[in-house]
Parts: sequence; structure tokens; C-alpha cells
Amino acid sequence: MTTSDKKKIQQDFKENMDYDELLNCMRCGFCLPSCPTYIETGHQEKYSPRGRIALMKGITDGVVEPDEDIAHSLDLCLGCRACEPVCPSGVQYGHLLADARTILQHHKKQSVPVKMVRKGIFNGLFPHQDRVEKATGLLGFYQRSGLEKVGRKIGFMNLFPKSMAAMEKILPQAPKRREIKARPRYFAHDGEKKATVALFTGCLMDTIFFKTNNATIKLLQKAGCDVVIPENQLCCGALNGHNGEMEKAREMAKQNIEAFEKSDADYIITNAGGCSAFLIEYDHLLKDEPEWAKRAKHFVTKLKDISAILVDLDFQKTHRLRLPEQTITYQDSCHLRNVMHTFREPRMLLQSIEGAHFVEMEGADTCCGSAGDYNIVQPEMAMQILDHKMEKVEKTAAKTIVTANPGCLLEMKLGVDRAGKSGKVRAVHIADLLLEAVD
Ligand code: SF4
Ligand code: SF4
Repeated sequence: MTTSDKKKIQQDFKENMDYDELLNCMRCGFCLPSCPTYIETGHQEKYSPRGRIALMKGITDGVVEPDEDIAHSLDLCLGCRACEPVCPSGVQYGHLLADARTILQHHKKQSVPVKMVRKGIFNGLFPHQDRVEKATGLLGFYQRSGLEKVGRKIGFMNLFPKSMAAMEKILPQAPKRREIKARPRYFAHDGEKKATVALFTGCLMDTIFFKTNNATIKLLQKAGCDVVIPENQLCCGALNGHNGEMEKAREMAKQNIEAFEKSDADYIITNAGGCSAFLIEYDHLLKDEPEWAKRAKHFVTKLKDISAILVDLDFQKTHRLRLPEQTITYQDSCHLRNVMHTFREPRMLLQSIEGAHFVEMEGADTCCGSAGDYNIVQPEMAMQILDHKMEKVEKTAAKTIVTANPGCLLEMKLGVDRAGKSGKVRAVHIADLLLEAVD
């Protein structure tokens, strides 16, 4: 980084960081024990929330020069936001991190191939659900045609980074594109009608995890909801937002708000913690555009996770939930817990299943290492965190690990595979498990 680059970054921090929010941190350190990277790095301050805030403030004040080490400190943050609920000052760490990453991303010198890959993913893929569907169609073809088996045999995936090769093994069976296209956009309630809800289908949830979206729809119907699937909705924008591509994320937010306004539903339902946390901050994302901020506010007031709406509608009291005898445990989605504040409801639902013995896992509220694309871009730290998480799973003796976010689900599947427990322990989304359990 040249001196001129450093000065430009400092200037951008000065102009764009929320200085009041930086000042909010009173350096008490209450957040330190909740931070996975602080713990996993042997308590290094620069990998803690307090340390990172101090570095951001130092750059903004012009007393700290940005360098590779600081960029690494911010890159190593999981963005899990476990530091927020425990902060007595209510520091909005997630917003500070997003702003700092956006500035650093803007100034990053990238090679042409990296720029092209980023452009392809953040501009060319996620903002176009039809392309995500096409990509899933290719994955399905790869899985069904026998290429997957041949590829594994000849070590084709060894050409890719280890972290991607590991992920390939645990991806679920992708649906056929025509299956996705054939799904209706309206589903009527079962029994007594209690609400009309609009489902936020998501990009990965409506392709690779299509089955889980269908389970979610069935649960909502059984709970007494008319379910509508608004057209023209797309990916929430979280992957763009977390990777410093805020402008694109804002465009995606606007398209989603418009799509759901037309549905006029009582609630907007999500089944992915990572998406819901991004969706619920659309008003913050669009805060500088008053008209959109107002529409975003209306949007976020309707947002609810699937577990929360089911508990609100007394689903576990009006339906008998039953499974074969087994021990189950729950891994929180960080964003569902720390941003949506939904953590009691999944446990209430799981504890009401007859035959299932629910065991709370020590540290269920700490990140599993998935964190969006973190396990791809920071594989070493992600695997260190995951292996420690699997030690905690082992202590519960659970045969079923339940999660509420696609990234966490894949990560737990990977953890099971790494721990050599495939076939003995399974990881499952809460919507799939509840549908399996309901009479
Ligand atoms: S708990 Fe909050 S105020 Fe205290 S050091 Fe951490 S971020 Fe700062
Ligand atoms: S978001 Fe998570 S990893 Fe990052 S500073 Fe906060 S607790 Fe630590």
C-alpha cells in the first residue's frame, strides 16, 4: 500500500464512518469473551471487537495508518455479531464492520481474474435468480449424470481450493429447474385461517435447499396460513453487502421491497438466519434515501423467522410432534440469534417433539465457522472453529443437529464428515425436522 493509498483510505474513513458509533465503544471489554476470533487466536486484542473498533477509530482519526495487518484483522472477523447483544453501550458493530469493509474493498488492488470473478458473482449471479437457478441446474446435472462419481474418482475437485472440494461432498441433491419453475405461487391454509404470509424464498434456499422451502410452505399451511410467493423477489443481498458491494445490495433491497409491497401479506417469512438479518436492516441500508427508508421500515416490521411465526400461532400446541427416540441439539444461526433475536422459539419447538430428547449444546450461541463465504475465504480459522464446535456436539451425544440457516447447515454437515460421523449423526434444517415430526 503506498502512502497516497493510505491517505485516501484515511480520508474515506473520515468521511464515511459513523463517528458517533465509533465513540460509543467505551472499551469495557464485555464483548471479548463472546468473540470467537479473539478466543481462537489466543486472546489477541486486534482480533477482538474492541480492538477492531479501536483500529477503525484510529484510521478515522488519522492516527493509525491502514495496512495489510489491519485489513487482515477485519477480514478475520466472522461478522457473527455475537459482540452486539452483550455490549452495554449497544455498539452497532455490524454496521461499523460493513462500512469499513466497503471502504477497504473500494481501495483494494485486485488482479484482473479476481475482479472478473467478483463481478461474475456479485453483479452477474446473485442479483439474477434465474441465473442462480441455471447454475443449480448444472449442479444437478453434475450430480445426477454420474460426473460427480467420476470426478471424485479421478480427483477432479483437487484442482480447486481444499475448502471448495470439501463443500462439494456435502451439497444436497439439487432440484431440477423445471421443478422450481412448476411450483405454484399461492398455497391455501389448512384448517382454521390465521394469517396471510409472503415467503421470502432466497437464492440458495430456493435452489439447493428447495426441499426445505417446500417444507416451510407446508408447515405454514398447517399452521393456518395462506402462503404467497411474490414474483420478482431475489437474493437478499447479504453476500454482496458483506463483501463491500453495498451499492448492488441496495439495488437488490429495493427490488425485494417492491416485490413484497404488492403481496400485502400480514407477515414476511424467512427460513434462513443470514438472509433475515440482512433483510431486517434494509431500513438502515437505505437510510440515506428517505422515501425508500420509509418503505423499508414497513417491510422490516413484517419480517419473521419460520420458528417465530409457528410459535406465535401455537403450532406446537395445536399439532402433535413426534419422532423416533433420539437425542437432538440445536446450533444457533448467529444472525438469527444476534440480529433477529430469535433463539427461544426454535428451542420451544424442538422441546415439544415427543420422542426427541433435546440437549442444549455448550456454546450453541457461538459461530460454527460458516459465516457466509468465510469458510471459503478464511478456511484455516473456519476449520479451527468448526472442529471445536464438533467437540461440543460430541458432548451432547446428539444424533441430530438442528440448524436454521443454509450456511450453518452445510457447515455442520461438513463438521460431521470431518469428525468421521457420517451415517451416525445428521444435520438438518429445523423446517425439515418439524415437517418430519408433525402428524
Ligand atoms: S462491549 Fe461494547 S462498549 Fe464494551 S468494548 Fe465491546 S464494543 Fe466496546
Ligand atoms: S462479529 Fe463476531 S468475530 Fe467479529 S468481532 Fe464481533 S464477535 Fe468477534
